[in-house]
Amino acid sequence: MTTTHSSVDLTLRDISAGTTTGSSCSTELLDAPWDVDARDPGYGPGASMADPIPAAAPRQGEIPQEYRDASAEELDRRIRAAKAELGDRAVVLGHFYQRDEVIQYADHVGDSFQLATAATARTEAEAIIFCGVHFMAETADLLSGPDQAVILPNLAAGCSMADMADIDQVEECWEQLMEVYGGETPGVDGRMPVIPVTYMNSSADIKGFVGRHGGIVCTSSNASTVLEWAFERGQRVLFFPDQHLGRNTAKAMGISLDEMPMWNPGRPLGGNDEQTLHDAKVVLWHGFCSVHKRFTTAQIDTARAEHPGVRVIVHPECPMPVVDAADESGSTDYIRRAIEGAAEPTTFAIGTEINLVQRLAAQHPQHTIFCLDPVVCPCSTMYRIHPGYLAWALESLLDGEVINRISVGEDVAEPARAALERMLAAKPAPDSAAPASSVTPGPGSAPASSTAAER
Ligand code: SF4
Repeated sequence: MTTTHSSVDLTLRDISAGTTTGSSCSTELLDAPWDVDARDPGYGPGASMADPIPAAAPRQGEIPQEYRDASAEELDRRIRAAKAELGDRAVVLGHFYQRDEVIQYADHVGDSFQLATAATARTEAEAIIFCGVHFMAETADLLSGPDQAVILPNLAAGCSMADMADIDQVEECWEQLMEVYGGETPGVDGRMPVIPVTYMNSSADIKGFVGRHGGIVCTSSNASTVLEWAFERGQRVLFFPDQHLGRNTAKAMGISLDEMPMWNPGRPLGGNDEQTLHDAKVVLWHGFCSVHKRFTTAQIDTARAEHPGVRVIVHPECPMPVVDAADESGSTDYIRRAIEGAAEPTTFAIGTEINLVQRLAAQHPQHTIFCLDPVVCPCSTMYRIHPGYLAWALESLLDGEVINRISVGEDVAEPARAALERMLAAKPAPDSAAPASSVTPGPGSAPASSTAAER
């Protein structure tokens, strides 16, 4: 099991050099990202590498040679200099799953929604550089001001789970469900036949679809609150894109597995018969996260055997048997706060993305913290962001050029915002095990000298 406290990048180098035990899911993880970008379209090495990518997925063109040639030290110097010169004009956001080599420059670190809301408070920033994936940058664009440009440093940083809910397939599904349920007419109890609910990890198109049909967005922290909101207004829920979050949340609310059919896009009625869809409480879209799909009950058994008393916490994007076998499940922020809140030295086995797990291990040396998955396999798409791309985005801003801007058209943005506002009005119940959620100031928000010293 990998218990090193170095960054994932350094761990991968050590594994490759044979100076540490362990294995990774792909030797190509050490390839330069621009070399990966130049290959056939794909999610790149890492957890999503076997997932089919949509033909229309954005691709990253070549970045200037100077960034490809620059050493890590030169990129570090240039990024810090550009950030210092830009000052408040630019804010750098880093997702929890981002590699440490990029996180060190982040002004804010958090999950996708925390970061998007943190960006809204930075009204003075002309540019929001989102070191995450495509749907996260879209969400930041939905919530930021019209004069703020949201930049995704590498356009190839998509999300395989978000891509599994394609807007054409979702529209087709809705049409078929409306035929089965007799249209969007409330029943005798005043509730609609079905309310669409989308996880934050979905495209702006899907959020817009949900908003247009009286639906709502959820996060992994507030999914049960949002489902309760939806059941007050609808007899059923159509939940996308993550079947596991939908199933785990609905099961915890007492809904039986028989009442949660899966919708397989491309098959008539999603592969169901009409009666099953009538009896359904939650129709689950056939989507999943390839990072969290890697966790198994056998890994939990091994952790318990090797570390008696271990506290196993997994993310609710993990398959249901894994969530059931764990001691706790919760969002990335829940996991972070659970570890911070542990008063006594504790052994934690964590089922979420390896960059976050290794960072938590480094930040909390009083605890033993390791990833349940013994194979080092980061989120492929988050991994497409490299300091070279960040340097390019920042220095382009200094030259008056905005590269890789992500912007959502107003026809989609308006209903998508409505779906997000419904989520905020639903007032998610706070997690019970830890204090209230908050975005973390990133290392990049401290003066460069102190940041370097801390590291
Ligand atoms: S961890 Fe999973 S859901 Fe999150 S960005 Fe990566 S592929 Fe998408």
